[in-house]
Amino acid sequence: MFQTASFALSAAEPAQFPPEGGPEVAFSGRSNAGKSSAINAVCARHKLAFVSRTPGRTQVINFYRIGADAYLVDLPGYGYARVPFAVRAKWEHLLSAYLRTRRSLRGVFLVMDARHPLMALDRSLLHWLTPTRRPVEVLLAKADKLTRSAAERQLAETREALARLYPTAGARLFSSVDGTGVEEARAILMRWLQLEDDRRDDTPVDGSRAATKRA
Ligand code: GDP
Repeated sequence: MFQTASFALSAAEPAQFPPEGGPEVAFSGRSNAGKSSAINAVCARHKLAFVSRTPGRTQVINFYRIGADAYLVDLPGYGYARVPFAVRAKWEHLLSAYLRTRRSLRGVFLVMDARHPLMALDRSLLHWLTPTRRPVEVLLAKADKLTRSAAERQLAETREALARLYPTAGARLFSSVDGTGVEEARAILMRWLQLEDDRRDDTPVDGSRAATKRA
C-alpha cells in the first residue's frame, strides 16, 4: 500500500489544504526529532519524506496520497533555535489551523527524541489537539541511542506525563535505525486510515511491551 504513496501537494497556508475527504494521518515533531526518518521507516520508503539537512527551513505542510483517497500528512518541524520569530509565528498559525480544524484527520503521530520528550512546543501541539479529541500516538524516536533501561525509564515518565496532558495518547519506543516500534506504528497507521494490513498479522497495538522488538 505505502509503495504507491506519492507526493500530492504542499500547503503554505490553510487555504491551500486539499478539500476534506478521505482519512488522513499526520506526523509532527520538533526539528531533528526523527520525524522524516519515522515516516520513511513506517512507510518502508527511503525517500518519501525528505530527511532534512537544513532543519527548520520547511514551513509547509506536505500531503502524500495513499491509495484511492487517503493522505499521509507531513507537518513542518518546529523548535529549531535559529528560526526567526516571524517564521515561528507562521508555523504556529499553519499548524494550529490544521490541527484544530481538519475534520479528515484520523490520528497524529507525535515524534519526539527519546532523550528529550515533551518539550514546550510538543505540549502546545497536544494543547491544540485537546478539544478535537483526535487519537495521538507518541513515538519516542532514536531509542537506539539510549540503554534499554534508560529508554524504558523515559517511556514510563512520558506515559505518566501524558496521563495528565492527553490521557488518550499512546506512547512507545521507536527507532528507524534498529526497527524498534516500526511494525506497531504501521499497524496503528493502517487502523487510523482504515486500510487492511495485507499481511493480516496479529501485531498488538496496545502499547504492551511484548509488542516492541526490544522487549
Ligand atoms: P526530522 O527533522 O524530525 O525530520 O528528523 P530526521 O528524520 O531528518 O532526522 C534527524 C537526524 O537524526 C538525522 O541525522 C537522522 O539520521 C537521525 N535519526 C533519525 N531517526 C533516528 C533513529 O531512530 N536513530 C538514530 N540513531 N538516528 C536517527
